[in-house]
Amino acid sequence: MLRAEGLVRTYATPAGPVHALQGVDHAFTPGRVTAVMGPSGSGKSTLLNLLAGFDRPDAGHVRLDDLALDAVNETRLAALRLRHFGFVFQASNLISVLPARANVAFPMGLAGVATGERLRRADALLERFGVAHRGGALPAKLSGGERQRVALARALANDPQVVFADEPTGNLDRASGREVIGALREVAADGRTVIVVTHDAAVADAADVTLAIADGRITSVEGGDDAEAA
Ligand code: ADP
Ligand code: MG
Repeated sequence: MLRAEGLVRTYATPAGPVHALQGVDHAFTPGRVTAVMGPSGSGKSTLLNLLAGFDRPDAGHVRLDDLALDAVNETRLAALRLRHFGFVFQASNLISVLPARANVAFPMGLAGVATGERLRRADALLERFGVAHRGGALPAKLSGGERQRVALARALANDPQVVFADEPTGNLDRASGREVIGALREVAADGRTVIVVTHDAAVADAADVTLAIADGRITSVEGGDDAEAA
């Protein structure tokens, strides 16, 4: 289980300190989609960066099961991210010169999976998200919805425990957005923890748990049976 415990993050700026997170506590339940919603500047990206170990808190801890991420050095953190975390961004961030299938296989290569196994698993993941027929296509040739489904397949490449998505439907029309939401729900149904930062009410409606964040604090937790954990 991934937990935020008393997370505080303050950025030093020429204009003075910016209190981006002011004490965030939450246990993210496996098997659930948790939507993080809040106005621009409320601290959503800061929270995601801390949870994923891209940045470190000034106070508090991020724990993955019994491991405090702040106690882990950068090298081990990178290895941990590769094996246990998957990422989907608003602008899919696929490698433009690699076809879809090679994009999905890429993180497996970093994790030392043998070539044949890489391609077999990449094909199975593309199939799962309905884009097996696009395996040979470069990202620029994919529709927005296809690109996000390939990105989701890539996020699952190393069978992660947690999948983070930052505005995954931000660039999509409604129908493609619905497909991506359905795919995220399926990913959670595997037993994974899915954390989605979003402005999209359709994503929040489909989420199991919705955290509202304002001024660096969680102001409400809706849904799930872990509301008391916030
Ligand atoms: P959100 O993702 O909800 O829009 P952010 O987490 O990006 O919010 O930002 C929270 C606050 O921290 C904002 O006031 C933002 O301007 C500030 N902030 C974010 N990143 C930095 C940074 N690297 N340096 C200074 N201030 C930052
Ligand atoms: Mg943001």
